[in-house]
Amino acid sequence: MFTKILIANRGEIACRIIKTARALGVATVAVYSDADRHALHVQMADEAVHIGSSPSNESYLVIEKVIQAALETGAKAIHPGYGFLSENAEFCRQCAANNLVFIGPPVEAILAMGSKSAAKTIMADAGVPLVPGYHGDDQNPDIIKQAANQMGYPVLLKAAAGGGGKGMRAVYSEAEFDEALGAAKREAINSFNDDIMLVEKYLLKPRHVEIQVFCDSHKNAVYLFERDCSVQRRHQKVIEEAPAPGMTDALRKQMGEAAIKAAKAINYEGAGTVEFLLDAQGEFFFMEMNTRLQVEHPVTEMISGQDLVEWQLRVAGGEPLPCSQDQLTISGHAFEARIYAEDPDHDFLPATGILKHLQAPLENANVRVDTGVVEGDEVSIYYDPMVAKLVVWDTDRDRALQRLTQALSEYRIGGLTTNIGFLYNLATSQAFQHGDVDTGYIEEHEQEIFRQRDSDIDYAAPLAAAAIIEQRQQQAIEAASLSSEPNSPWHLNTSWGLPQPNLKMQIQRAVVETTVDSNTSLDGLTIAPTDTGFDLFTPQGFFHCAEVQPDLGTDDENAHGGNLNAPMNGTLVALLVDIGTKVNKGDTLLVMEAMKMEHSIIAPSDGAVTEFYFQPGDLVDGGSELLAFEANSE
Ligand code: ADP
Repeated sequence: MFTKILIANRGEIACRIIKTARALGVATVAVYSDADRHALHVQMADEAVHIGSSPSNESYLVIEKVIQAALETGAKAIHPGYGFLSENAEFCRQCAANNLVFIGPPVEAILAMGSKSAAKTIMADAGVPLVPGYHGDDQNPDIIKQAANQMGYPVLLKAAAGGGGKGMRAVYSEAEFDEALGAAKREAINSFNDDIMLVEKYLLKPRHVEIQVFCDSHKNAVYLFERDCSVQRRHQKVIEEAPAPGMTDALRKQMGEAAIKAAKAINYEGAGTVEFLLDAQGEFFFMEMNTRLQVEHPVTEMISGQDLVEWQLRVAGGEPLPCSQDQLTISGHAFEARIYAEDPDHDFLPATGILKHLQAPLENANVRVDTGVVEGDEVSIYYDPMVAKLVVWDTDRDRALQRLTQALSEYRIGGLTTNIGFLYNLATSQAFQHGDVDTGYIEEHEQEIFRQRDSDIDYAAPLAAAAIIEQRQQQAIEAASLSSEPNSPWHLNTSWGLPQPNLKMQIQRAVVETTVDSNTSLDGLTIAPTDTGFDLFTPQGFFHCAEVQPDLGTDDENAHGGNLNAPMNGTLVALLVDIGTKVNKGDTLLVMEAMKMEHSIIAPSDGAVTEFYFQPGDLVDGGSELLAFEANSE
């Protein structure tokens, strides 16, 4: 076992790796950027090295700085976590060149799986079932279109270098093909500087079922069962679970063995995930292999009782796998919900701000919270907006799901927008309760998940009113105590006081189905102030209460997609139209990127852009006007 390792990552994953290292008696070195000077992972590690300014391409992504930090501190190995340098072949090479062990697969395996097209060729040769499609070298658009026509629509275009759902477009007919290919290529160039495309049959309502594999340097390989990650927004996972609902022993074995075949085809070592699409007939198709530890690995840990980071450290140190396939068993059921600072009501736009109030559910044998932040920390524009992973376990799916909804209702974050209410509605939606999931789940059940029921308002309104009174009384007491005349009637918060302006509150989507309790008291309520009002946490869920401002003009514009201002601090990625060229309402005018997600600015009406105020690569402050637009006069 290593004596000291460096963790080339931040946030929850860095903290999670430190926990295992500590349990094994391995010393840890954290690295950090300016923005992370006081971050939890820095505090938790035995040592920490500053590696640059806040943008990740000036710190966490700079190979030389990370290697230098390891050499200076005497670390013997580097754990890359996920994201950042975890699948970077050059980083892997540089580790070897500096006698540092890369805690991950051999560089050849990273290279082999780095391109979705090349990976498919290898898997086809190894006899692993593939989604029907074209992944050839000839990138002539006519050849790709011909392949699409032959396999029949709908098809899915994907960037070979893709990840994070970028450079991906579903195409429903030949007529849409050329435009979709252009858009997908553009996005791929902007995101990966590479526009090689492949095209696949777009399976309708498949499930995303992935297999956790582990291989060592002694030619042992096992699979630690499956995870169902079908519930996705923007083709990205939000709730994962293990085992997959409805999975049979026979299919599990078949998929597990196919995954091992995939891993062996590239002489894999360490932790890897083979992703499959599973159709309603139980047929499964290889999608890609991720050559790292996945975000959702905790659900596998919960059902298998194994610590996958410990396995990684052992395997990287040359030890054989801790278990054989026969020794691995599934116990119970686990869920993971990804808690993000983002706004589900506005296309999941990432949110930034200070975590003014942060209260996670209590951790115990059934509830685990993997996080890298504490109350008062900032979710900044620089990194992924994930706040935590809430992981629960119980003896069966129903019980585990009950734990999940309970824990979500106890999770209280104030100060910025999160997806907790959305996750709660998702977890309590009927079909999800029955395990009836597929990759289109959120769109299919939009009505149920994004609903606002009268009963929610009936329940929340009196609580919000009571909360306001309580808050004002508190303010009155504080004002009185600071005053030279504490007994002055002007400090009374009763009808004697100065008249309050007529207060109008907007109470947003509640998270629970509930009956109105006329005896509701304020016991068990938490009121967390926000910029516009407060978040009201009740024992049954929570509500956003915002004071309605008289000037709603700009917000209205926002709601209709006509806002030409930057939604948040970010980088301008691409201008997609020419000045003066006629565009139609809804056309994308430019693309910005913030917190690893793209955001499109769209035409508010038919018309033309008369000026762009920024160029690709420019850093733009949230709220800045981006362009001048002239609507058609007729
Ligand atoms: P990325 O690497 O960008 O995350 P993936 O290839 O892993 O992209 O695909 C992400 C998600 O897109 C999958 O989990 C699945 O929901 C959906 N998807 C991918 N390929 C197909 C397909 N051929 N048919 C239907 N859905 C697909």
